[in-house]
Amino acid sequence: VIANGQPQRRVTTTCAYCGVGCSLNAELQGEKVIRMVPDLDGGANRGHACVKGRFAWGYASHADRITTPMIRNSIRDPWQPVSWDQAIDHAAAEFKRLQARYGAESVGSITSSRCTNEETYLVQKLTRAGFGVNNVDTCARVCHSPTGYGLKQTLGESAGTQDFDSVMQADVILVIGANPTDGHPVFGSRLKQRLRQGARLIVADPRDIDLVDTPHVRAAHHLKLRPGTNVALVNALAHVVVSEGLVDEDFVSRRCEVDSFRKWRTFVADPRHSPEATEPVTGVPAGRVREAARLYARGGNAAIYYGLGVTEHSQGSTMVMGIANLAMATGNIGRPGVGVNPLRGQNNVQGSCDMGSFPHEFPGYRHVSDQATHALFEAAWGTKLSDEPGLRIPNMFDAALAGGFKGLYVQGEDIAQSDPNTQHVTAALEAMECIVVQDLFLNETAKFAHVFLPGSSFLEKDGTFTNAERRISRVRRVMRPLAGYADWEVTQMLANAVGYPMQYGHPSEIMDEIARLTPSFQGVSYARLDELGSIQWPCNADHPDGTPTMHVASFSRGKGRFMLTEYVATEERVNRRYPLLLTTGRILSQYNVGAQTRRTANTVWHPEDLLEIHPADAEDRGIRDGDKVNIVSRAGETVLHARLSERMQPGVVYTTFHWPASGANVVTTENSDWATNCPEYKVTAVQIQRVEQP
Ligand code: SF4
Repeated sequence: VIANGQPQRRVTTTCAYCGVGCSLNAELQGEKVIRMVPDLDGGANRGHACVKGRFAWGYASHADRITTPMIRNSIRDPWQPVSWDQAIDHAAAEFKRLQARYGAESVGSITSSRCTNEETYLVQKLTRAGFGVNNVDTCARVCHSPTGYGLKQTLGESAGTQDFDSVMQADVILVIGANPTDGHPVFGSRLKQRLRQGARLIVADPRDIDLVDTPHVRAAHHLKLRPGTNVALVNALAHVVVSEGLVDEDFVSRRCEVDSFRKWRTFVADPRHSPEATEPVTGVPAGRVREAARLYARGGNAAIYYGLGVTEHSQGSTMVMGIANLAMATGNIGRPGVGVNPLRGQNNVQGSCDMGSFPHEFPGYRHVSDQATHALFEAAWGTKLSDEPGLRIPNMFDAALAGGFKGLYVQGEDIAQSDPNTQHVTAALEAMECIVVQDLFLNETAKFAHVFLPGSSFLEKDGTFTNAERRISRVRRVMRPLAGYADWEVTQMLANAVGYPMQYGHPSEIMDEIARLTPSFQGVSYARLDELGSIQWPCNADHPDGTPTMHVASFSRGKGRFMLTEYVATEERVNRRYPLLLTTGRILSQYNVGAQTRRTANTVWHPEDLLEIHPADAEDRGIRDGDKVNIVSRAGETVLHARLSERMQPGVVYTTFHWPASGANVVTTENSDWATNCPEYKVTAVQIQRVEQP
């Protein structure tokens, strides 16, 4: 042991939790990590970190780690430990058998936003070139796929417009459906710093998130809307902008498709979109909507930050377009301090989308049917490729239940816990004949698997993550992979075993290939990343050092396009049987399905998921704080302890989803976004009853 706990060496890497993408220095004695210290030079965090990145890395060495490959013939059989060669050969033989028997389209893959860009790129390459199908999807399907669609339609690029530093030049900050102090804590602190300097805050959220009223920070307006009415609210804001002469006519005429603007202006000017007409739908007082719209349009630089409270709805894509419309109409795009900024959930959501793990897009968001792109990838990969879009995750489940989808390779994603309507998901998994799970732990999905390939944590591999501000940062190997191989090496072995050769010696070679084939990554290499610390794409001849602010002189698609955003009420209605609306979110100390944070001391702060319920709703049902309550929806039921909280509005209840036993997704439904199938996690009609204690 070195005196005073001093490290022998430091390795700079990137946090594996949220989309802020903090740069951290892993401090080691020998092979043992003793501390994780935020990097003063980190482009995204500048010396800060939160309780997850700083303290919750011990899961990487947790006793639950599986370090030996395993196979079994049936999910009812016990696992049999085998060698890597046996496991890979078995998986490859099974995929070949299934394709021979049921057809090429009977297999597919799911990538994870926890994995590196290079790993994600390899899985989609294996699927397209090795399996010969486009059935590859990412867990971003269930979080930010509407961002990709909505921003592409309006601005021309499936990504946020600003760097995080930009918030320090904002005069007005509109936070919609995001809870940055819990979900993106380091950015949340930066945002609070700007608010303390005098920027004004508008929050649109069904719940009193911390930003609404914390010491030294108080929102100028809290638009406490009913879950599921985002689009009605954004149309009401737009109505005020248009009807009160708040449009930036100069910006619109120079930068946008004027015809699309005229149609949009006529659409939102209709009295049915006024704050007064929409108040009965949203529940937000009309006067407050008018004041908020005036502040956003007239208050100086106005920036929008949004999260899953925007995307995880049946109208997620519509809402993203509504937000982009609002920013374009008021000229709040194309300079520091403004913009449209999705707060990505996981560390590499942006990257997993960039890397082509969508069934309809090659890396760089180019459609598989685009002939030039198709020819480029066929030539580079030396094989015929399908130009038909493949199956999305929910389509894979449906196809499995219909008998046509039989084999799945899942890297780093616990679909049995994280996807909605658990009963539907598990039935689909049970219907498949070969599921290959590559993960750190025997997660919920592994219960349905036939091959288990041990995964590697972020400490055990080289690669890159891309954060919410398009910042590509290095992940550097800190210790040897516990199971002997990094994830990218395992995918490569599987590709070779199915007959598609891959011979990368290091992830830097994978990045070099990505850069050759993807215009927005053209100037990215490990050497440049080492030199600059990090790079925000696009990085190419026009932007050799990357691009902190996008759409400066023109939009990626040329002119900005306004889209009509008709509000359509969700199918998920309350009635006498299901009179309350359940919505969900994250908490600071835990992270998503909790596979990592539940295996750290962070559990002291959040040992279970609770149901937040307004005291009036609790009183109606005879529920006291701490009581066990049964939550019943049209999809299923689960039991949680109740926490009485006036953060909720009457009629709305709330829970987190970090513990498998809480079964949050047992009750969520299969409703999804009309454009992308992103599930409607944020709105579930439920009944709550006190569980009588024996
Ligand atoms: Fe930074 Fe997010 Fe990691 Fe916290 S969880 S240290 S905010 S990247």
